[in-house]
Amino acid sequence: MAEQEVLYNGSSKTVFRGEGDNITIRFKDYIAAFYGIKGARIENKARMNCSISSLVLGYLNDNGIRTHFVAQTSDTEQQCRHVTHIPIEVIVRNVVAGSMAKRLGLEEGIVPENTIFDLCLRDNELGDPLINDHHAVALGLVSYEELAEMYDVTSKVNSLLKELYAKVGVTLVDFKIEFGRAADGSLVLADELTPDTCRLWDVATGERLDKDRFRRDLGRVRETYEDVAERLANLLNK
Ligand code: UDP
Repeated sequence: MAEQEVLYNGSSKTVFRGEGDNITIRFKDYIAAFYGIKGARIENKARMNCSISSLVLGYLNDNGIRTHFVAQTSDTEQQCRHVTHIPIEVIVRNVVAGSMAKRLGLEEGIVPENTIFDLCLRDNELGDPLINDHHAVALGLVSYEELAEMYDVTSKVNSLLKELYAKVGVTLVDFKIEFGRAADGSLVLADELTPDTCRLWDVATGERLDKDRFRRDLGRVRETYEDVAERLANLLNK
């Protein structure tokens, strides 16, 4: 078999040129935080994140969200549509946590009355700085019309995911998504949705079921990712 062309090689995923217009995303048994300052091999993580992201993106596709996800093709691989990536992270917060709590001196766990949206420029060297709509347009990354659509889609994704996670006893605290443009210029959600990119708190115990277990040395990282994968599979693989 011919060698697959690597388009991107990150700490937790490798992206290859796939079949036709597709890309292949291969997940890795690795977790990284704080821009790679902290990292570790986590057995079974590739399988868990591939399964979780495939289930969640499939669910979003089925509910009218245009995502890049086409199919899960092996335990650790997905076929996704190739898009031109927009280097903006859209963060949604239903509960105050993480960088927002720190930046504003707030307790984690406060539930604001409104849903909070942040934009960050995706740039590791700059530390993914917080930006606003006007910065994003001035940098030539998006138009105001595209931003309006991105907020609209992100809000729908938030509603769908809150509902999904509530069914498996989990509060969706916050998450990050990114978008790309398809060949016709239309916006497509092009990202993973896993415990690496979402904060998930167990409704009953308040236990953290996400990457904070690794960031904050809370232990049981593998078991937690397996727990989230199992809850979603039991709900969605019927
Ligand atoms: N997030 C992410 N990638 C990033 C930054 C944030 O997936 O580069 C996710 C993070 O896991 C959390 C949410 O976005 O679910 C909000 O993250 P926050 O701004 O609190 O940053 P953190 O302190 O977690 O880096």
